[in-house]
Amino acid sequence: MPSRMSIESAIDVTRPTASVLSVRGDASEPGHGSLWATAVRSPRDRTVPMDLLLLSNSTNHGSTMFAHAADDLVELVADDVVTFVPFALADWDDYAERVDAAVSTLGIRVIAAHRASEPDRAIREADVVLVGGGNTFRLLDSLQQLGVVDDLAARVRSGATRYIGSSAGTNIVCPSIRTTNDMPICRPASFDALGLVPFQVNLHYVDPDPHSTFMGETRDERINEFLEENDCPVLAMYEGSWLRVHDDRATMRGPGRLFARHGSDDLRAGDDVTPLLRTSPTFDDGRRPRRGALPPVD
Ligand code: ASP
Repeated sequence: MPSRMSIESAIDVTRPTASVLSVRGDASEPGHGSLWATAVRSPRDRTVPMDLLLLSNSTNHGSTMFAHAADDLVELVADDVVTFVPFALADWDDYAERVDAAVSTLGIRVIAAHRASEPDRAIREADVVLVGGGNTFRLLDSLQQLGVVDDLAARVRSGATRYIGSSAGTNIVCPSIRTTNDMPICRPASFDALGLVPFQVNLHYVDPDPHSTFMGETRDERINEFLEENDCPVLAMYEGSWLRVHDDRATMRGPGRLFARHGSDDLRAGDDVTPLLRTSPTFDDGRRPRRGALPPVD
């Protein structure tokens, strides 16, 4: 069982940032390099003009879509038109209609990216994007095939585009999609994502049930497997929680749990997790067997 820890100790702000550039696996993958390096190269100096609303889920049980985060949603959108990105689900029209119905009750106007004559341009030029949930592999693959990953990341990083993500849409703000709960139903060219934040998230997080007879991995075990391979904090958010990144600060809205190699700790609504924005992750340092003869046994 991992020990408890503080947010400051979950991240090693003193670790040399160069270490993240010596990643192993993804280094040969298409898309690797500039985006990745930008996300983590100078985390201590970087100011954060980004405006992010990162929801664990779009709909709470028994409620309507986005109702739980309505105040933050309205504040972030202000009077701008939102560009909705529906590509995590297969039925884009149905998804866009449901989102439109939900946010119009909040006075928010939406256009769906797939209905634009140039969906890639609609995403590139958006004032606000709302990237919906569904399957994270399908979402990332769609954005890669549209060729918008680097441009969208740059726009959001500069503050030109404000970003709302829910579920899969939140997963892709991380350096990688390796901590999604989804099955890899398709093959994005790379797991590298937008890299807007230098840590990972795990969404729809559930505590282990000590009385369960289920023999598959618990969520905690899956997250700890990720940490065996990668030294990067994982911010787990329960359903109904979200993270707001605004004015150089990252604040928990609702409870969560922060996992790192040396332990985990509970987070509460209102917790300031800004130090996470300065983390310097290292990926792909898991142990692997070497080919060739085993060493002689004495
Ligand atoms: N499938 C989830 C969603 O978008 C994402 C996840 O659980 O990782 O709703």
